[in-house]
Amino acid sequence: MNKYTVSMRTVPKLDDVNRSFWTGGASGDLLIGYCASCECWVHPPEPTCETCEGPIESRRVSGDGTVFSFTVNHHQYHPAVPPPYVIGLVELVEQPGLRLVASLVDCEPDDVAVGMPVKVHFEESGEAFVPVFAPAP
Ligand code: ZN
Repeated sequence: MNKYTVSMRTVPKLDDVNRSFWTGGASGDLLIGYCASCECWVHPPEPTCETCEGPIESRRVSGDGTVFSFTVNHHQYHPAVPPPYVIGLVELVEQPGLRLVASLVDCEPDDVAVGMPVKVHFEESGEAFVPVFAPAP
């Protein structure tokens, strides 16, 4: 099992654009940017829509997705993060192509597969709640 302690998660500096994404997990919500005029989801967080330049608001998504792609890391890049661990590219169910990079947890690396249904969980790290994904129940 790939388990981390709280201090192992690296979080970017929080600002007005990315804060909701990184802290929504405090209430169990995965918050993703949404452009109301284009009716499309936007990730990573941006201050304005790159299509219409309209405002991006944060909206709750289901937290359901599938593994679009993944890699298993066997090299110990950080002394506190023991390999192997899985870095996934997860496509959220809300929109084709709406993908985010996240750790895949609570499963053995050999059991991860492209197309596997996953569900978001959060790991607290300072003021942030880092989205990670585990196999869907
Ligand atoms: Zn737009």
